[in-house]
Amino acid sequence: CITIKINLCFPSIPYSLKTLSIDGHFDFEQVEHAAKDFGNRYSYLPLAVLYPKSVSDIATTVNHVWQIGGGSELKVAARGHGHSLQGQAQAHRGVVINMESLKGLKMQVHTGNFPYVDVSGGELWINILRESLKHGLAPKSWTDYLHLTVGGTLSNAGISGQAFWHGPQISNVYQLEVVTGKGEVVNCSEKQNSDLFYSVLGGLGQFGIITRARISLEPAPEMVKWIRMVYTDFATFTRDQEKLISGQSTFDYVEGFVIINRTGLLNNWRSSFNPQDPLQASQFKSDGRTLFCLELAKYFNHEDMVLANQEIKTSLSQLNHIPSTLFISEVPYMEFLDRVHISEIKLRSRGLWEVPHPWLNLFIPKSKIHSFAQEVFGNILTDTSSGPILIYPVNKSKWDNRTSVVIPEEDVFYLVAFLSSAVPSSTGNDGLEQILIRNKRILDFCEIAGLGVKQYLPHFSTQGEWKSHFGPHWEAFIRRKSTYDPSAILAPGQRIFQKPIAYS
Ligand code: FAD
Repeated sequence: CITIKINLCFPSIPYSLKTLSIDGHFDFEQVEHAAKDFGNRYSYLPLAVLYPKSVSDIATTVNHVWQIGGGSELKVAARGHGHSLQGQAQAHRGVVINMESLKGLKMQVHTGNFPYVDVSGGELWINILRESLKHGLAPKSWTDYLHLTVGGTLSNAGISGQAFWHGPQISNVYQLEVVTGKGEVVNCSEKQNSDLFYSVLGGLGQFGIITRARISLEPAPEMVKWIRMVYTDFATFTRDQEKLISGQSTFDYVEGFVIINRTGLLNNWRSSFNPQDPLQASQFKSDGRTLFCLELAKYFNHEDMVLANQEIKTSLSQLNHIPSTLFISEVPYMEFLDRVHISEIKLRSRGLWEVPHPWLNLFIPKSKIHSFAQEVFGNILTDTSSGPILIYPVNKSKWDNRTSVVIPEEDVFYLVAFLSSAVPSSTGNDGLEQILIRNKRILDFCEIAGLGVKQYLPHFSTQGEWKSHFGPHWEAFIRRKSTYDPSAILAPGQRIFQKPIAYS
């Protein structure tokens, strides 16, 4: 019904797109893949997919959509690697721009005192790593998984265990080239068009399309000492994590994860990690208890190995983990950063990658992490988790409050990421429905207990929910939206955001 209605109202949209003079092309037939994402739960068919060959292809298309006007309700969504969880890179009956085909810009690494690399917005982080390593350099801040695009992670934040020190990826960008909602191509940075620069960073793809980015680099280490250790007591675990992220830590990466109802876990680690005390480690029994694993990494070059080992030994001696659970591994830097891809290959081979992923990512203020843990790990998730649960603190001082990302108000806050995979068509605890029920229980608890939690990679259905997500930043969001994407502003009272959030 809706299709017919829209087609009757705007019969000429596909035709008008076909008349645009562009270097790339539109596909109006093979569009199904653009209605999929990693979350595997939302599917919105677009009208067309644009395969741009140049920035001007994107500018021409967006300008055309702007000229048609907001009344057409034609949405445009940039699609990076499509690893969104809830349709964020999809455009229902709109135009999806396939950013990975924007290969016009060759990656350019600039060495010197402040090294950086200029990349296309559709470039994968794994390719940036490979290219910059040829010059002995690498970006400073990462995500755990590198097969994501620059535009995709910069539209959110981009965080991993380096964020406590370097801030998220959005704190490590010098300059952007953006196609705004009017189809203008604008360069922006801290000094030039700074409002657009900060709007787009963490801006959920709402203010413009990132076509190019200048990413800050640092000398790349050769090797990584990768360390894991276990805690039974949550307070001791978080105290150590917070100690490690405050001041000058010897470690370059601090993360952690929760282990729920697993037996023989430490034995599994043995394939890649060495227990420091093999006999004691083999006698450690988890007995189904909830445990907390601290994960650390220290970068080093071969010639500095002795010094690195000494520093690690001193730092570890100040931590309060269970001594027999200390495991250390030594891997090349590239292997450490690309670690999740190894799991991806294994999961794909077992048909377990393309399943529904009802992930829930939360930012939790430090002062509330204990109440959160008590209820969530003590009550809601006592016997199952359906996937990894990451938990690590970051320093707010490393986040720029001019960006669009929404974070809690405290100096230290935690990322808690429930990275669940649902077993297709299961109605049990591992099925989608039960995982969504657990997610809702967690969110309801946060709301009722007034924990001041913010969602990362957010997705909401109503304007009220978005308003409450942005809180005091809502007015700034509206102002930025009306400045950079004016055709998207609807009459008062109407919903700006629709499912999926698309840049319209
Ligand atoms: P897409 O899903 O294609 O797009 C995401 C959003 O960005 C959409 O709103 C889209 O319209 C917009 N967008 C895409 N390109 C552009 C552009 N060029 N300009 C403007 N807007 C654009 N995140 C972390 O922070 N840390 C992690 O450790 C982490 N690990 C992950 C591991 C896995 C296995 C997966 C699947 C995701 C992980 N994420 C992590 C989340 C990830 O950062 C986001 O889902 C990200 O958006 C995915 O990038 P993408 O290129 O696939 O973007």
